[in-house]
Amino acid sequence: MNDCVMPTYARQPVAFEKGAGVWLWDENGKRYLDAIAGVAVCSLGHANPAVQQALFEQAGRLVHTSNIFRIRRQEQLAGELIRLSGMDNVFFCNSGAEANEAALKIARRHGHEKGIERPATIVMENSFHGRTLATLSATGNPKVQAGFEPLVEGFIRVPHDNVAAIEAITDPNVAAILVEPVQGEGGVRVPAADYLNRLRALCDQRGWLLMLDEVQTGIGRTGRFFAYQHNGILPDVCTLAKALGNGFPIGACMAHGTAARLLTAGQHATTYGGNPLACAVAATVLAEMQRLNLPQRAAQLGEQLLNDFRRRLHGIAGVVDIRGKGLMLGIELDRPCADLVGLALERGLLINVTADKTIRLLPPLIMSDEEARQLVTTLGDLLSDYLSTP
Ligand SMILES: *Cc1c(COP(=O)(O)O)cnc(C)c1O
Repeated sequence: MNDCVMPTYARQPVAFEKGAGVWLWDENGKRYLDAIAGVAVCSLGHANPAVQQALFEQAGRLVHTSNIFRIRRQEQLAGELIRLSGMDNVFFCNSGAEANEAALKIARRHGHEKGIERPATIVMENSFHGRTLATLSATGNPKVQAGFEPLVEGFIRVPHDNVAAIEAITDPNVAAILVEPVQGEGGVRVPAADYLNRLRALCDQRGWLLMLDEVQTGIGRTGRFFAYQHNGILPDVCTLAKALGNGFPIGACMAHGTAARLLTAGQHATTYGGNPLACAVAATVLAEMQRLNLPQRAAQLGEQLLNDFRRRLHGIAGVVDIRGKGLMLGIELDRPCADLVGLALERGLLINVTADKTIRLLPPLIMSDEEARQLVTTLGDLLSDYLSTP
């Protein structure tokens, strides 16, 4: 490997040179079916022509000014996000962790407004919120935190998908709940259908902010533009990143109601956030998502893939659970299976393994029926071979 790059990733020994749709080609010209989309990022697939054109045109006109000035592209993108989400306003940044930092600062402001000196945010076991100090402190994974203590204080951790555990909290310092609608890194954990509705009711009752980390679930992935739309609720805060730029870095923290007025001039900022280039790309992503009806397609293809995998893997010992929502799918095995990633690469397929034992599939939302069949065949064959060798 290359010693010039800090060794923070355990990388697969393959480098891709080009992509088109759901396909990638490595340096030797070998073709791969991409079922992770850069970890839920390239939902429109690789080398999307509309995204390419938006990037090219905006780059030739104006890339960056500063948030010292009005940015029309940013205002337009914010307007579109608000129309799609039902939220009130948006703060733009550059990543998921940074979007969650904004959310956590809003929670602290909410607490202070209520006279709480040391506001706390309720977070979940097995959650993932990012790698900055505050977001890794919010994250419910000891591996992410180990070696980086002291952690940021002000988090109360409870089991995921357990409303009673939150109801039982009597700490008067609570200001907010931060939760992923479907846990991604935690192993594609889909909570009870009414989970978010019950959290919404509890937050209303106690005066807490309901903050949803939709960095992975947002922008159509689960079968709705935003995962909370399955529940017919509005959160107070909702964070986005990953698919918003289809690979161009952009994050967003959307707020509603009182939460939308808690950060005022001078209280939060980031140099690149919402620059004309990023916003031109993201606006094109949102337009393409709608033009191609991709949230609906994610719902339909996700359902089909769940059924197809259940049929293909039926009766194979070692498969513990097949679950998901939209095109966020998890196949849990009875054993650690990180080596499957390399074995799948040999067969021309990109998959991800998370939470040790769960194969995570996050295909581009533009995947065709034929490509989906190929995914089921290739992964199905791989898994029956893998699980039949002792
Ligand atoms: C990926 C992810 C993040 C972190 O996003 P970065 O852009 O890597 O900082 C945060 N929350 C969730 C749910 C994620 O999936």
